[in-house]
Amino acid sequence: MTTASTTAPAQTEIHDAGHVDVLIVGAGVSGIGAAHHLREQFPGRTFVILDAQDNRGGTWWTHRYPGVRSDSDLHTYGYRHKPWRGPSIAAGGAILEYLDEVIDEDDLGQHIRFLHRVTAASWSTADRQWTVEVTREDTGQLLRYTAGFLMMCQGYYNHAKPYKPEWAGMGQFKGVIVHPQQWPEDLDLAGKRVVVIGSGATAATLIPAIAGQAEHVTMLQRSPSYFFAPPLTDDLAVQLRALDVPEEWTHEILRRKFMAQTNLLARMSAETPDELHAFLLESVRPLLPEGFDIEKHLTPRYRPWQQRIAIVPDGDLFAALRDGSASIVTDTIDTFTERGILVSSGEELLADIVVSATGFNMSLLGDVAFVVDGEPVDFTGRVTWRGIMISGVPNMAYIFGYFRHSWTLRVDLVLDLLTRLWANMADKGATMVTPQLRQEDKDMPLLPFADPENFNSGYVMRSQHILFRQGDREPWTHLLELEQELGILPKADLDDGTLVYE
Ligand SMILES: Cc1cc2nc3c(=O)[nH]c(=O)nc-3n(C[C@H](O)[C@H](O)[C@H](O)COP(=O)(O)OP(=O)(O)OC[C@H]3O[C@@H](n4cnc5c(N)ncnc54)[C@H](O)[C@@H]3O)c2cc1C
Repeated sequence: MTTASTTAPAQTEIHDAGHVDVLIVGAGVSGIGAAHHLREQFPGRTFVILDAQDNRGGTWWTHRYPGVRSDSDLHTYGYRHKPWRGPSIAAGGAILEYLDEVIDEDDLGQHIRFLHRVTAASWSTADRQWTVEVTREDTGQLLRYTAGFLMMCQGYYNHAKPYKPEWAGMGQFKGVIVHPQQWPEDLDLAGKRVVVIGSGATAATLIPAIAGQAEHVTMLQRSPSYFFAPPLTDDLAVQLRALDVPEEWTHEILRRKFMAQTNLLARMSAETPDELHAFLLESVRPLLPEGFDIEKHLTPRYRPWQQRIAIVPDGDLFAALRDGSASIVTDTIDTFTERGILVSSGEELLADIVVSATGFNMSLLGDVAFVVDGEPVDFTGRVTWRGIMISGVPNMAYIFGYFRHSWTLRVDLVLDLLTRLWANMADKGATMVTPQLRQEDKDMPLLPFADPENFNSGYVMRSQHILFRQGDREPWTHLLELEQELGILPKADLDDGTLVYE
């Protein structure tokens, strides 16, 4: 597999790659979505999309392990403008095909440059532009773009370096250790004993996909996650499609259904967590093998939705537990051995292959080194403006999707706001917009990026110390729920004094 981490000889000569109005970093769902809105709303503006990888799709290109699929419905994960026609929970390959259609329909291909890693971005107020340093991942060539506006659509994790915890004794293990983010295309699972370390969405999607091929798959989890087992294709989608309802209507109806459903679950997780806890456990109980210890293996220690709920369409993970091709061990790793993993109970889990489904290393804005008028930006002292811009950083917006709802719902909402912002700048004749704390915000307490009470996934908690912060009041807050933002973002006052136009 070709990955983003190809290293090429260092070069010193810098090639001038030209100027664009908007430079988009990342060709995943966010970058492609941003380009769609830009083309539609401002057809005269020039733009380029740079991605460090050798293909489009971001997450869906990086993650190509067996069974990779969405864990939210594609009616809301798909863009607002383009109906999703497939099953409600989709395979990674189908999502890539959908993105390819968007790229074709919007003629975006000519604007995308692959194997272009953005390493630094420097804003000059005098020149009213960003100077963006880029390294070609294939040739090592250094390029320099200039841009009026920077759209950071780099996602939230490091695509080249997954999170790989070190366990005692790993060196003596005679088998193969793989990470789902770097799945070897030729990995042969036939007849192999596989241990998957982890209990999140990745483990839940990988295990049913490989359970039939391997001799046996063991999910080794330190602590349990919540699961939900909806049908692969939503019943209402089946009905509307059977009635030949125009697909734009079907798309809109299903989006509303799934938004309402997720809103309800989000509200329950905050207001009646015990009820939601009981509902989730009871919903999977009938799918489990007889005598299964649900208390030990499927009863999480956190409130529902402090971490993402793992979706198992049609309960396929539980089918693998029922037919015996997979099992769950809830325990901590004592040490790797030559033959597998010894857990604290004293049991040795024999393995030919260990899959470390242990998650991500978070990346702050694509690890790009930001400088504003000669001063390096230390993000830990900066505050988010509505989860879209950063205090003191001009002409730069970023996309960070929802934790609980589909990421892409926020792509459309953020771009709606940026469309208004760019129009506002044009009306004022401004070429620069910078979020700045107002006098009354100057003493505002700065809170961590994420409140662990609200969301405490490992990758976020491990990275809080490198991330920018949020305040205790609008517009300096972020990670709000879709329901709140639908009320806030479309009518947010862009002249409330928190944005300085020049
Ligand atoms: C297996 C898996 C399943 C998921 N399922 C869902 C789901 O069902 N629903 C949901 O809402 N979310 C899901 N997520 C979260 C998912 O990451 C987001 O939904 C979404 O794909 C993020 O899109 P993005 O374009 O913002 O970022 P990414 O998909 O991460 O793409 C960012 C791109 O930017 C590029 N890039 C980064 N830094 C640089 C740089 N410095 N220079 C150049 N290029 C750079 C990367 O190479 C990458 O291609 C899932 C995540 C994973 C890993």
